Amino acid sequence: MPMDWKKNPANWEKLAKVVKGEAGWKCEECGMQCRRPGEPFDTHKRTLIVAHLNHRPWDCRRENLKALCFGCYLRYDAEHHAMTRKVNKMKRNSETFKQHELERDQVDASDLIRDSAENLEAFIALRCEPGREKSLALTKLEECVMWANKSIALHGVWTDFEGC
Ligand SMILES: [Zn+2]
Repeated sequence: MPMDWKKNPANWEKLAKVVKGEAGWKCEECGMQCRRPGEPFDTHKRTLIVAHLNHRPWDCRRENLKALCFGCYLRYDAEHHAMTRKVNKMKRNSETFKQHELERDQVDASDLIRDSAENLEAFIALRCEPGREKSLALTKLEECVMWANKSIALHGVWTDFEGC
């Protein structure tokens, strides 16, 4: 599931700034000093990001928020994605599989499409300002994965592309 940024409260920007300020603009995981607002982009300092510890963007209780540097954020997000993938895989194994009798190569191809999309999704989530365009980008990405996987489920994996 993509992050639903609409569920962040209207005062999210302010709230995030308070959390970052309380952390002294340091990563609360690894202690790295991050860029303060107005500081120029350079190669030495990372951007500080406020993460929701329970991965629920609408839960903005202070104890659920943690200021993380870009590196720690990606790691924390990757762990969450890995867990989600594992759960989804188990679900697919027990339900979809038996229903549609997908071949092994179809499953692998679908997983690869999903993984690739998750990388793009994370990048959009971190680099695009919350708003209508961002929501649309994330929704279309989800749609994209759905159609590609439907194609694989219906027609199998296309391997005949060499020499084109
Ligand atoms: Zn860090």
